[in-house]
Amino acid sequence: MLSPHDITSLSSQLLAASAIHFEYLLLLTALLTALIGGVIVWLETYEFPRQRRFKEVWLHQHSQELYSEKVLMGLLEKLGRDSSCCSHCGHDEMQLWDIRDKFLVVRCTRCKINRTMCMFSEPIIDEIRESTSALCRLLETTNKKRDEMLGQYLLGRLHFNYFKKRHKDPLISAVTFRTLSPA
Ligand SMILES: [Zn+2]
Repeated sequence: MLSPHDITSLSSQLLAASAIHFEYLLLLTALLTALIGGVIVWLETYEFPRQRRFKEVWLHQHSQELYSEKVLMGLLEKLGRDSSCCSHCGHDEMQLWDIRDKFLVVRCTRCKINRTMCMFSEPIIDEIRESTSALCRLLETTNKKRDEMLGQYLLGRLHFNYFKKRHKDPLISAVTFRTLSPA
């Protein structure tokens, strides 16, 4: 059984221990605040201006590819007007999957069934192939720099849909379009 003296002594020890604990917490908070402040200053002083300069130079050097993306979206809109929805599930959104000399493979974004379109029945495919070849670097850069200023800008400006692209899907599958004719 503890005597009143023991209880008083134990209370004092506990109070002293919690005071030390509180001091450590204060020190830790101060260190964290200083660290976060340092990171913010670094971002504003070096990282943001560096990324802004990189973005501006890159956009200037790749203006032709940015134009190709606009052309491609126009061509896909045209193709979508003449193409039927997915014959399997009736969905109206397709993603590009593969493109060769004479044919284009598109995939339904819902049921993942592929459809092959032939150049002889769809002459526009030849134009789509030309615009797509100029687009590879744009797709790669947007994907690689998506956490940087340039990637964020490209994601906002271009019509790529990386949400529909799974990890191992071809890069080109980030390009999607709508089909307007019923299945
Ligand atoms: Zn489908």
